[in-house]
This record gives sequence, structure tokens and C-alpha cells, in this order.
Amino acid sequence: MTDGSLPERLSRAITMAGPIPLSQYMAAANAEYYATRDPLGSAGDFTTAPEISQMFGELIGLWAADLWQRAGEPDICWVELGPGRGTLTADALRAMARAGLEPPVHFVETSPTLRARQKAAVPGASWHDDVAQLPDDRPLIVVANEFFDALPIRQLVRAGDAWRERLVACQDLMFLPIAGKDIPASVIPESLRDAGPGSVIETSPASVAIGRAIAQRLVAQGGAALVVDYGYEGPALGDTLQAVSGHQFANPYEEPGSRDLTAHVDFATLAAAAGIEGVRVEGPVGQGAFLTALGIGPRAVSLARASPDRTESIEADRARLIDDDQMGSLFKAMAWTAPEWPTPAGFL
Ligand code: SAH
Repeated sequence: MTDGSLPERLSRAITMAGPIPLSQYMAAANAEYYATRDPLGSAGDFTTAPEISQMFGELIGLWAADLWQRAGEPDICWVELGPGRGTLTADALRAMARAGLEPPVHFVETSPTLRARQKAAVPGASWHDDVAQLPDDRPLIVVANEFFDALPIRQLVRAGDAWRERLVACQDLMFLPIAGKDIPASVIPESLRDAGPGSVIETSPASVAIGRAIAQRLVAQGGAALVVDYGYEGPALGDTLQAVSGHQFANPYEEPGSRDLTAHVDFATLAAAAGIEGVRVEGPVGQGAFLTALGIGPRAVSLARASPDRTESIEADRARLIDDDQMGSLFKAMAWTAPEWPTPAGFL
């Protein structure tokens, strides 16, 4: 699979070896997508919370600094998973420095294009392909915003009276979802087992593996993690795979590698996976409630006081981040802490 565009390579692989699991299709599509562009911002495909307003990264920096102070100010590393343009970390570092926290920065990022953007925003950072390569000699404060939604999912589809794994087939460069082999009913959560025809259950083995790896580090080294993403608390039914291109929804089975493929994050499964490793889990709570508890209201007022001509746009950004009909409820925050670390702010 070396020559040609991603659709050509995937098509050839499927022709030779048969339909592939949705997770393999999504992993290949997103690896290509993120490697070949900076998708963020109004000229790109989607806008994330740190790109909406500096308040987001600053408040998370203050969240981290408060926790670090109450933990006794140990030497820590700051870690961000999938940092995009590096904006969240750059804003957080400014806020942390005011509290006397200036940690070394470690980014987990696979895209060379985005690594270059991150280097411009945070020149002193170190980069890793995988959480396995993170430092293992000190506590970690880990942040992941809109990271888990980009990780590959599996879908199980109810067809007739059996559950079957969704596969992706291809004909003439047209990709399409089909039902693959039967899945034993015993692996389906009991509450969903008898769902009607066409029902879909999603799982994300890659998210669970990364969640567990981070939680293991926190238990062994100390520290905390903050996961912010859009999602739900499963088990639940529903096909949440979506493609976004130019700020519009698109067909996830067209032009793999040119569109951002995401799925809603199952916070309950992630929490359980991390909890098994021994971290304390807080939340999830709505992003609106979380940012309000961290003081987004007073922060917006003080920013507007410093730049009166920007008052309206600061207020619009605040509303976009926290209102229930915008990002306030669908987006959620969840924290994991090492057993001996204090309880983080924002989860009352
Ligand atoms: N956190 C940023 C960017 C979100 S987009 C923000 O909020 O603006 C998703 C990010 O995760 C991108 O940086 C992308 O390159 C990265 N990413 C996606 N899959 C990844 C993987 N498997 N390993 C590491 N990084 C990944």
C-alpha cells in the first residue's frame, strides 16, 4: 500500500484482501488527513475551544496550577495529547507561569504538519508518537481536548437477530459500509442486546488503550489528566461517526483522508477503563459548568475591561464555550487523579 492516493491504496487493499473493519478505515483516513494539513480555524474544516478563545487554555492552565500547588509543588511534566496548533498549551503556559509553574512540555502528536505548527506556538516542547514514550520519572499533568473523538471506533450493527461488525467495502473507488461477521451476543452490553434492527453500538479500543496507559502512568508517577470532548455516557445505541469538511457535515465514506472523521466519546467506558487502573475519576460534567466553576465569567469581564473594543466578541466567545445550546453540554470535562493527589477544581 505505498503508491497512489489514500482512496486508491485503500481500494487496492480491499480488492486484494476483502472488506476492512471500520476502525482500520477510520485510522487510515485520519492518519492521512492530519498528516497532510492544518485543519483548524475558520479557513480549515473545524474550530475547537482553544481556537475560539484564549480563555479556554488560560483557565485550564489555572486549573493545573491550582492542583499543582495543592499537591505540594512537585516537579511535573505538562503533557498534551493531540495539541492541534499548540494554542491550548501556549495559553495555559502563560497562566501557569503567573502562578510560578513553568513545566517542561511534552506533546503526543503523530502529524508532522501539526508538529511544525506546535513548534511555532511552543518552541521548547518535546514530541512523542505515543504515550508509551512519555517521561516516567515524575508526575504528569495531561490534557486532551478533542483528541479521543479522532481515535478509531468499531461499530456493531444489529442485522436480523444477530449483531455484526461493520466493515468497509469498496467498488470503483466508492466506499460503503457493510455488515461483516456475527459477533457473539455475550460481548454486547445486556441492556442493548435486544435492540431493534439497524441499531448501532460503538466501541473505541484505541481510546480505551490510551486511557488505560495514561491512568497507569498517573498511578505510578502521580499527577492528573483532564479529558474534554463531545460525547455521552454509555452504554448507548447510535451511529455517531461523522465527517466534517469546510465546517459542513460530509459523507464519512467519501474521499477518505480529505475529511475529518470523528465519533462521540463514550465517557462512561473511558472512566471505567481508567478507574480499573486505580485513578480517581471526577465527572464528566458539562464544559459550561466546568468553565463556569473555573471562573470564565470574571475572566471575560477582565479581558473586556482591558480591551473595551472587543467586549462583544469576548462575550460571544464565552457564550459559545459555555451555553447549553452551543458547546456547554454536549462537550464534557472529566478528570483522573493519582490516588495521593488532591481533587481537581471544577467538579463540584
Ligand atoms: N487539541 C487540539 C486539536 C484537536 S484535533 C484542539 O483542541 O484544537 C486532533 C488532534 O489529535 C490533532 O493534533 C491530530 O493530529 C491529533 N491526533 C489524531 N490522532 C492521533 C493519534 N492517533 N496519535 C496522536 N495524535 C493524534
